[in-house]
Amino acid sequence: METILFVIAAAGCSIQAIIGLGFFISCVWEKESNAMMVSGIQFLIMLGLVIILFYFKAIGVFKTNFGITLLILGLALAAGLCVFLIRKTRPNQRALAGSSGLIVGDVQPTDERDIVFARNRTLRPGSEEYDTYYKMRPEYEELDAARRQKGGPLGHPGAIDRPHDRPNVAKFNPPAHPEFKGQRVELNPGSASTRVKGYTLNIGANLVGICEINPLWIYSQRGEIFNENWDDWGQKIELTHKYAVVFATEMAFDLVGTAPHSPTTIASMGNYARGAFIATQLAAFISNLGYSATANHLRHYDALLVPLAVDAGLGETGRLGYLMTKDYGPRVRLGAVTTDLPLTPDKPVDIGAVDFCKICKKCAHCCPSNSISLEDQEEVNGTLRWKLNAETCFDYWGKVGTDCNICMRVCPWSHASTLPHQLIRALITRNHFSRNLFNQMDDIFYGKKPKAKPAPEWARYE
Ligand code: SF4
Ligand code: SF4
Repeated sequence: METILFVIAAAGCSIQAIIGLGFFISCVWEKESNAMMVSGIQFLIMLGLVIILFYFKAIGVFKTNFGITLLILGLALAAGLCVFLIRKTRPNQRALAGSSGLIVGDVQPTDERDIVFARNRTLRPGSEEYDTYYKMRPEYEELDAARRQKGGPLGHPGAIDRPHDRPNVAKFNPPAHPEFKGQRVELNPGSASTRVKGYTLNIGANLVGICEINPLWIYSQRGEIFNENWDDWGQKIELTHKYAVVFATEMAFDLVGTAPHSPTTIASMGNYARGAFIATQLAAFISNLGYSATANHLRHYDALLVPLAVDAGLGETGRLGYLMTKDYGPRVRLGAVTTDLPLTPDKPVDIGAVDFCKICKKCAHCCPSNSISLEDQEEVNGTLRWKLNAETCFDYWGKVGTDCNICMRVCPWSHASTLPHQLIRALITRNHFSRNLFNQMDDIFYGKKPKAKPAPEWARYE
């Protein structure tokens, strides 16, 4: 009896110590000095416990009543704590209902012309569209004019680092299905979904899901123009596709770690280019089955991608307004392809992100422009979410000349996908109390306002 209890206790303490060592190694790899120190201390305490346990065994403490009681109490406490933190707590029903679960009022479809990027990247002073738009929305004219005066949103003089060029997008033609002879290949939705998802992951996406498109998330009017197709500007967006294949690509941990400095924008632009490549290739792949498909990426959006991603089961919307995924947190960029190819939709997920965000608020405390709400979720255009001030956020981008990304960098869900962080994600996805615990621990290990890390040598600016 005494030996069995000792073996269980020794195994438990050793596993703890190994996890502690793993966490220390992870912190070294992440180049997080404070976390390295705290995890080092944590590992030494756990190692100390193992040594004390073996010492007690050697001197015969566990042969006494006191020793056995101590062993039983220790094991009961550890087992109770494990069950308490591992068991699945009450699910978030709103999250499980996807974007529809967040609808609490009257939702007006978003006019793409009102999006801060569309106004500032597309409208040219003196043009007919410029006059039309600001007659319709006079409240934005002065604000946007002041931005243009300063030189635009990215890469203007006075930027935090040096400006750099936008990336290009490569494109190949995917092989056609052997049965495709100019007519639709008949595929059942399950098989079509398997093909489409497999293709998406194999050409570079990290996550992929499928949803039925809720028309509320389709832009009402076209607002962003990149290829002089001005006839499209202000046109009603008619989208007849029933499904969207939504995917996410992971942004490089070391580059996002430098936010708000320029290397983080290399990660953003690189991922937008990657998203454009994947979306155009996937649209071509679906076309080669004989169906209609439209790529949605940085240069063409028909719909809001975050609610589509929520409906496709990729994650939940966080306090910072981005999609929160289980594996990478908000450290992703999204792309999508809409299509009339019949597919099998995935189910929305509850990963505990909204519950975690209610406790956390780190992004809001760290945002240099106070654009992220510190309050509870509220009704914004008929949906329950945290209100993000896109205007002040965009102004900060203009000031530093990058896309900032501080909120993404400091988010506890954005840590590198090392084994210890995967373990923590598995726990916080399941359990409310783990969310509280690891939220506190994140502050202790990484700080309440984590600092930017130095860029990798190749990405340094003098
Ligand atoms: S930093 Fe915290 S509050 Fe902000 S998105 Fe991440 S988990 Fe949510
Ligand atoms: S990108 Fe920067 S300015 Fe914008 S919300 Fe995030 S932290 Fe704030």
